[in-house]
Amino acid sequence: MYMNIRALNDNLEKTVNDRTQELLAANEKLKCLSTLDGLTGIPNRRGFEEIMGQEKELAPQNSTHLAVIMLDIDFFKEFNDLYGHLNGDDCIKKVAQALYAYAIENGAFAARYGGEEFVLILQGKNQEAVAAFAEQLRQRIEGLCIPHSLSEVSKYVTISLGVCWVTDKNDTSIKKVLDEADKALYQAKQKGRNRICTVGLYPKTPDS
Ligand code: GH3
Ligand code: MG
Ligand code: MG
Repeated sequence: MYMNIRALNDNLEKTVNDRTQELLAANEKLKCLSTLDGLTGIPNRRGFEEIMGQEKELAPQNSTHLAVIMLDIDFFKEFNDLYGHLNGDDCIKKVAQALYAYAIENGAFAARYGGEEFVLILQGKNQEAVAAFAEQLRQRIEGLCIPHSLSEVSKYVTISLGVCWVTDKNDTSIKKVLDEADKALYQAKQKGRNRICTVGLYPKTPDS
């Protein structure tokens, strides 16, 4: 009788342990899924915010280069109007996958920020390297040759990009970098779209 109860208890303990492991694994999976965008499969805004939090902690004390690029598809309302919402979804997927692949190739991080807007983070690249990266990305998206006959700037789907580049972000908040990239994106739209506008944030000098 005693042995039976002991065996039962052991069994129960094993079941509880197994269940706990299953729950932990399920939680991990959920956490992972909640940072991925359902339509495109790339990280979503939440995933971006998590990475940005880590970037802040990982930042070395001095002179690290960080760039944030915000980008948005040009004349996308017109695209949806002409080709329909499902083709619009398909276009967002293609753009997302192309820019994600390009980011990975270059050691950068990319996420869908919302709608047809995306964000990229680059670390350790100087201003020229960031400019070259952004220009190649712009060309790559246009080079997907997704027809857009209502676009005023190209036969194909294009993007506008706003870049904020920081030499030393220790006294610059992530929010400020994002705000500046967003303002630069607005400028790129104002100046005609299918282009890049850049703003630089430099460390404060003693007399500034
Ligand atoms: P602009 O060149 O100034 O960016 O003009 P725009 O027409 O692209 O303007 P805006 O960026 O404001 O338009 C966003 C449009 O994207 C409106 C919305 O209907 C569409 N959109 C947002 N999310 C989705 C989506 O998941 N699927 C589809 N098909 N359309 C979306
Ligand atoms: Mg747009
Ligand atoms: Mg938009």
